[in-house]
Amino acid sequence: MLQTLKDTVTLANQVEIPGVGIGVFQVDDLQTPAVVRAGIEAGYRLIDTAQIYQNEHGTGLGIKAGLAATGLARQALFVTSKVWNTYLTYDETIAAFEKSLAQLDLAYLDLYLIHWPGTQGDAAFKASWQALEDLYDQGKIRAIGVSNFAQIHLEKLFEYARVKPVLNQIEFHPQLNQTTLLAYLAQHDIKAQAWSPLMQGRLFGHPVLVKLAAKHHKSEAQIILRWIMQHDVLLITKSVSAQRLSDNAAIFDFILDETEMAALDTLGGEVRVGPNPVSFNFGR
Ligand code: NDP
Repeated sequence: MLQTLKDTVTLANQVEIPGVGIGVFQVDDLQTPAVVRAGIEAGYRLIDTAQIYQNEHGTGLGIKAGLAATGLARQALFVTSKVWNTYLTYDETIAAFEKSLAQLDLAYLDLYLIHWPGTQGDAAFKASWQALEDLYDQGKIRAIGVSNFAQIHLEKLFEYARVKPVLNQIEFHPQLNQTTLLAYLAQHDIKAQAWSPLMQGRLFGHPVLVKLAAKHHKSEAQIILRWIMQHDVLLITKSVSAQRLSDNAAIFDFILDETEMAALDTLGGEVRVGPNPVSFNFGR
């Protein structure tokens, strides 16, 4: 079990990834430098952005500011970005990656993901995956993976992948516990990483959470994040508030017992904050 924000787990290609990180979805590019810097100062070592968030420039500035403030080296951080996969060709994917790298002003990425699989099978992601494989071979990315891939998408990918994805970033929280997909990922040595772990706030006030928060003298956010961690799922949380970033990191000093985990496991239904990957078509 992770003990601090700096603790890592080992991906299938032996690269170490911090178990807990911050993301900058819906953070304005101008606000992003301060948020990323605050995250690094609070002890986070994983920063998650994406081409579609339109804040890679701000993320890069925040990384520089965070490194300067803490005296850390670039290698101490783990930086992820994602290609917005609108049926890209091989060349377009390479160009998108180079643009992300330039915007971030980094020499390499730690992790690069295909953001969504799309609904057209191979047409949506085969060429992109092959581009990621080549970028990986060239050492421009330390690890490659996918996001929002259901089992059917992974099965397709496995038909031709030379390099297996090491991680799948998926929506995961107590109202979408993804039991079947998690088992499939474990079988293939692919780490799951949770996005929207707090359901963007929609779960707050649920009686089970309120009760557990009072019992453990923790916030509802901390209870949810701890539940995710105890499921051995990596997680990225987001806040524009330095105070909340710190609060969300205080999840290493208590344990949810089996009954409490089970109560959160069954909070209900299959409620999604984002679209269902099986039917999401890049907003077309
Ligand atoms: P989260 O579930 O982490 O929730 C973020 C929201 O919760 C924000 O509105 C934030 O508000 C609020 N919040 C954060 N901490 C607290 C707290 N302690 N108490 C009360 N409210 C809190 O959602 P995200 O959707 O942002 O997901 C996290 C990250 O996952 C993203 O930033 C992104 O990097 C990634 N992601 C990936 C996706 C993908 O398709 N791969 C899709 C969506 C997200 P405030 O900022 O005002 O504090």
